[in-house]
Amino acid sequence: MNDAMQGGDATPFDFLLLGGGLQACLIILAVRQRQPMASIAVIEAGERLAGNHTWCLHDGDVTGPAREWLWPALSARWPGYTVRFPGYLRSVPLSYSAVTSQDLGERAAAALRQGPHDLRLATTGQVLDDHRVQLGTGEVLRGRRLVVATGRADMPRNLGGWQTFLGIELVTPRPHGLQQPILMDATVAQVGGFRFLYVLPLAPDRLLVEDTCFADAPDLNLAERRQGVLAYAERHDWLPAAEVRCETGVLPMPWRLPPQPATNHVRAGVAGGWFHPLTGYSLPWAAAVAEHLAQRDPGEPLGDGWRALQQQHRRQQRLPLLLNWALFRMAEPAARTAMLDLFYRRDASTIGRIYALRHTWRDTLALFAGRPPRGMARWPRRWPLTPALEAPQ
Ligand SMILES: Cc1cc2nc3c(=O)[nH]c(=O)nc-3n(C[C@H](O)[C@H](O)[C@H](O)COP(=O)(O)OP(=O)(O)OC[C@H]3O[C@@H](n4cnc5c(N)ncnc54)[C@H](O)[C@@H]3O)c2cc1C
Repeated sequence: MNDAMQGGDATPFDFLLLGGGLQACLIILAVRQRQPMASIAVIEAGERLAGNHTWCLHDGDVTGPAREWLWPALSARWPGYTVRFPGYLRSVPLSYSAVTSQDLGERAAAALRQGPHDLRLATTGQVLDDHRVQLGTGEVLRGRRLVVATGRADMPRNLGGWQTFLGIELVTPRPHGLQQPILMDATVAQVGGFRFLYVLPLAPDRLLVEDTCFADAPDLNLAERRQGVLAYAERHDWLPAAEVRCETGVLPMPWRLPPQPATNHVRAGVAGGWFHPLTGYSLPWAAAVAEHLAQRDPGEPLGDGWRALQQQHRRQQRLPLLLNWALFRMAEPAARTAMLDLFYRRDASTIGRIYALRHTWRDTLALFAGRPPRGMARWPRRWPLTPALEAPQ
């Protein structure tokens, strides 16, 4: 379908998506499930949908009807994972799943083709107003529901720390034998901040191994991290292995968030602040937003339901913002390890609620009860409860 038929001066698209990453792909899947014949246009700067990532989530992060279209899209699922700290090793019985860019991009492209659509790859767009986007070519597309999901491209300067990582997908020479992910192995040398290795067993002979750091600065030394991954793989007898893919990330771990801009179009994905400030995960909230939009007539204003969803998310972001503040403002790097160590000693349901941003007041109090970890003199007398949410742009 092209502009002559829809989106330009003619009938607008039902959904006009600027950005074709994780959030846009989930909206495509949700809309095809709830409104199969809705017209969808996607404008993506890259050469393909979904970019180059492996996205994970705790299964409990997503509840309700979004599971109908998200679960079939998942690439791998595990009943639990392990965490390793210098003093202990623990298996956490929380089911955990992954979806690769390759799988999600192909599924979203196939779903698009099942109804009226227009997919513009290698094309950038700029928002003109609440219903129109101008492409790099000068062409203008119109949509009844404009969704801006351009990722971090236009996020303001970060206030807080950073999660920096490099991951390599390896094909091992023999079955690696790892049954479930290692979410955090903090028994490795601590350099540059709180450092840990993360491993996903994607298939019996395939692993994604990531060298991650909670650091004060957004620097990522690619050669050093690559060496970290390979040394870890060697230690576990996973070499010599073929390297099939590499991904990198520099994700903000803020203790403040910018105010929500007042627009009548939707800002979704991380561009709209829909992420977990401590873990950087955004998939669960991208799924919730996709389901919300797909259930509504794209010609109707979103109104109170949308505002309530936004407010609830902002409220639940407060605890992880505070934890980031404690991690980066109060703790020496060694105390960061102790904070995470304490966190993973909690019962699985508490860990699950905090990952899902469904924690209770009781969870918050329990986290800060008792003596602070080694390396922190004391908890502050006054927590930055109010300034934690909004930061100047
Ligand atoms: C390597 C990596 C691994 C991650 N792992 C996880 C994980 O396991 N679980 C999890 O929940 N989160 C994870 N995250 C965090 C977060 O979920 C991702 O950043 C996620 O991709 C954000 O989704 P999004 O749709 O908001 O943005 P993106 O997926 O980044 O998509 C934005 C898209 O918009 C396009 N774009 C930008 N500007 C324009 C423009 N002007 N015109 C047209 N197109 C434009 C970009 O090319 C991009 O494809 C990870 C992040 C990274 C970097």
